[in-house]
Amino acid sequence: MSENLVNLMNLDPDGLKEFCVAHGEKPFRATQILKWIYQWGVVDFDEMSNIKKDTRAMLKKVATIQAPEIVSEQKSADGTIKWALDVGDGSLVETVLIPEPDRNTLCISTQVGCPVKCSFCRTGKSGYSRNLTVSEIIGQVWRAATRVGFSENGEYKPISNIVMMGMGEPLLNVQNVLSVTKILLSDNAFALSKRRVTISTSGIVPALNKIAGKVDVALALSLHAPNDELRDVLVPVNQKFPLKDLLAAVRNYIDNSNANCGRVTIEYVLLDHVNDSTDQAHELAALLKDIPCKINLIPFNPHEDSEYKRPSNSRIDRFFKVLTEQYGMTVITRTTRGDDIAAACGQLAGQVQQRRLRGLNEQLEKLKDTKIEAKVSTGKE
Ligand code: SAH
Ligand code: SF4
Repeated sequence: MSENLVNLMNLDPDGLKEFCVAHGEKPFRATQILKWIYQWGVVDFDEMSNIKKDTRAMLKKVATIQAPEIVSEQKSADGTIKWALDVGDGSLVETVLIPEPDRNTLCISTQVGCPVKCSFCRTGKSGYSRNLTVSEIIGQVWRAATRVGFSENGEYKPISNIVMMGMGEPLLNVQNVLSVTKILLSDNAFALSKRRVTISTSGIVPALNKIAGKVDVALALSLHAPNDELRDVLVPVNQKFPLKDLLAAVRNYIDNSNANCGRVTIEYVLLDHVNDSTDQAHELAALLKDIPCKINLIPFNPHEDSEYKRPSNSRIDRFFKVLTEQYGMTVITRTTRGDDIAAACGQLAGQVQQRRLRGLNEQLEKLKDTKIEAKVSTGKE
């Protein structure tokens, strides 16, 4: 790509409007371009037939529209599809489509690798190189849509739900994740409802506090332990942001959100004889007694970089029953999808080229300079 061309996939709807105005166009030009890209899948300016020829010629001189290329596609026996996308420098990120009877969920990546390094996660083990750009994140959705379709299809859209549960920690890439969210929710782009877009986080407290009341989408918290002592080991970022601060930040986020309907989703990976005892289930219920939530139990998905094991079904069942029968909590045990192609939660590795080792501290430093300005509003519920 020529260095001087602006990739319009890096701009959110407001940014695209500013770009059009800066090039002598009316703001509605941005609406037209958004629709071409994200509703009809058109990225060739020459095909944008409602835009004047002169304007198209001007756009070609200053802009381009580029998503990362798909370099491989793997299909699971259960219908799950995993794509690897080339984001340059020999790095690959992965995106997973999970078809279900009433929805198609796309699981997208937000970083190349992940600096949080949770002890059980394959992405964490694969290292970390950098944040993905807006075009590299929204480009995953765009590429998937080129495979399954862009527009409405009977009762639901070809891609009806987005979860930021692929590679990386979304709240260490807040600015770009915010822009991506705006494109996902914009009526002129993917037009998804805010309840169908989920940010999953390991618990980056300052970022959560920054976006509270400004970015309204569904929130999933990767908790995985009922106390600080164990969480410090499983999710090392807990050493910086302990449970008391984290749960206060989560509360604050959902109190300022419509998308969550007053409840956060708690993700809890069940690791055999590590965090799955009935005592720990009681401790978890006590920890969450003031947090309106639903719990997703995720039996550990094994991978070659880990010694942890998935608990037996009877251990999973016992843990589940303590929460549901003794505390009346809403709990689902998430079924594993696509593990025959290593597409299940925490099995994504992509390919991470580490030119320079960058870690969590550097990422957290960057967060200090991040400005969260615009409120995402679509008028949709
Ligand atoms: N970084 C974010 C989002 C990506 S991870 C986060 O941690 O929330 C998405 C989910 O997969 C998280 O809940 C994570 O803990 C879980 N996960 C990671 N490795 C896993 C594994 N091997 N088996 C099951 N779930 C795993
Ligand atoms: Fe990063 Fe999430 Fe994996 Fe932890 S679980 S290492 S935060 S991707």
